[in-house]
Amino acid sequence: MDKILVATDFSPHSEAALDLALSLVRGEGATLTLLHVCQVPTYAYFGGGVYVPSPELLETILSDAKRALTTICERVAKRGVRVDGHAVVGDPATDIVRWAHEHGCDLIVVGTHGRRGFRRFMLGSVAERVVRTAEMPVLTAHLTPKAEEARP
Ligand code: AMP
Repeated sequence: MDKILVATDFSPHSEAALDLALSLVRGEGATLTLLHVCQVPTYAYFGGGVYVPSPELLETILSDAKRALTTICERVAKRGVRVDGHAVVGDPATDIVRWAHEHGCDLIVVGTHGRRGFRRFMLGSVAERVVRTAEMPVLTAHLTPKAEEARP
């Protein structure tokens, strides 16, 4: 696997996805990409108005995500792994699959759950949509209670 995409929402489950991806990185040419999709609500409300977040708010959301990605990338790079991090605005499942396709990724790794917990997995999650729509293999990483306990 030369290009592995790890989708992160910064939850412990996506950290488990990162750990799993790291265990699969082999050889000098391998690259790990971390992708966070900032989901920004847009509302159409009664009376015909539409709320769209301001460019300043979008900039703040993106730069917060990029800062968090940089911290993770620095940690991963210390292990001698080639890594880069990207934040985009969009729909998580759609944009994870699109990114992987456009950048020729061989594998996508996601957590089974995210920040919204187990309920979301049952109801139709980002992970489930990525598994269903990606054209490349998708690995789902489960955070076991034991691994969760061992986390720093
Ligand atoms: P969820 O479907 O929200 O329970 O999340 C399942 C997994 O999908 C997470 O552990 C992440 O790997 C990935 N994921 C969820 N939301 C995002 C997001 N906004 N950006 C990137 N990856 C995400």
